[in-house]
Amino acid sequence: MEIRVELTKNPKPKPDSDSLGFGRYFSDHMFIMDYSVDKGWHDPRIVPYGPIPYEPSIMVFHYGQSVFEGLKAYRTDSGQVVLFRPEENMKRLNASCDRLCIPLIDEEFALEALKKLINIDIDWVPSGKGTSLYIRPFVIATDPFLGVRPSYTYQFIIITGPVGAYYKEGLNPVRIYVEPNYVRAVIGGLGESKASANYAASLKAQEAAKEKGYTQVLWLDGIEKKYVEEVGTMNVFFVIGDEVVTPALNGSILPGITRKSCIELLRHWGFKVSERKISIEEVYQANEKGLLREAFGTGTAAVISPIGELYWNDEKIVLSGGRIGELSQKLYDNLTGIQYAKIPDPFNWVVKV
Ligand SMILES: *Cc1c(COP(=O)(O)O)cnc(C)c1O
Repeated sequence: MEIRVELTKNPKPKPDSDSLGFGRYFSDHMFIMDYSVDKGWHDPRIVPYGPIPYEPSIMVFHYGQSVFEGLKAYRTDSGQVVLFRPEENMKRLNASCDRLCIPLIDEEFALEALKKLINIDIDWVPSGKGTSLYIRPFVIATDPFLGVRPSYTYQFIIITGPVGAYYKEGLNPVRIYVEPNYVRAVIGGLGESKASANYAASLKAQEAAKEKGYTQVLWLDGIEKKYVEEVGTMNVFFVIGDEVVTPALNGSILPGITRKSCIELLRHWGFKVSERKISIEEVYQANEKGLLREAFGTGTAAVISPIGELYWNDEKIVLSGGRIGELSQKLYDNLTGIQYAKIPDPFNWVVKV
């Protein structure tokens, strides 16, 4: 399929590298492709970024048939722009589409479209320390229809925008509230899909935790509220003695690409990594025995987010003396080192745009 290109006549001024933040600025162009039952995916195009008119009746507004991805383009010291394991994002996008009855997208074509879009907006990839171009592919149901069924029409859209370093003053340990009432997902639900609905479901607990002075919630399983699932919108790891433990992908946990990369790196370094069930009680008991060395979240936005404190069952525990754990730091340095092509990439994770 040929990608039609319409360039903007009004390029926007680029924001200052120091004031980027996250998700506030959008590049000059976006990619759009339509789906209909008779034509399949068709009319791929790159057009100026801007409002899209929709009828208020389109299905996504009412029944939430919507999935998304999140990845980054990094500018290396030599000025080149690279992506980190983008084929994994396209694979996961299709897994999410499948779960939400959205027609699958040709993964190679989607990656080609993404690269073309980035090349058109290449000047939007920032070069300040820790900055990157955040890429948000998403699919929405666009039938103007209020009956409940999967939509017959969709749009696949990719928008991008420059983002700042997640941690301005380096890695910052965060305070985590173990959520006893609300759950993020249950097995059989949407937990392992990157569905917008999961985020809608998580807001209430997130707000309550913030009010209590915590940064994120730690989610327990939706059935027994006993086993650890994720932290905020990140996967979670615990270092207990000489074992690195992360919850196994059980169907309600999002299969993070940062999670997968951490496991692969840790095993490559010779660490014992277990993907298994881990109860919050086990975490607290390990702490009592002096075996809980560190805990951290993993995700594209923050890469590694060290956990400085946990609050559960009226009991607060402080991890790694409230400082960054050794392994958290090592993973952060190596992952960002590979992403910005500062160190060798033994797994060929980095892809040129
Ligand atoms: C996207 C996401 C993650 C992290 O996935 P990465 O591929 O590492 O960015 C973890 N948990 C949830 C709920 C997510 O939506």
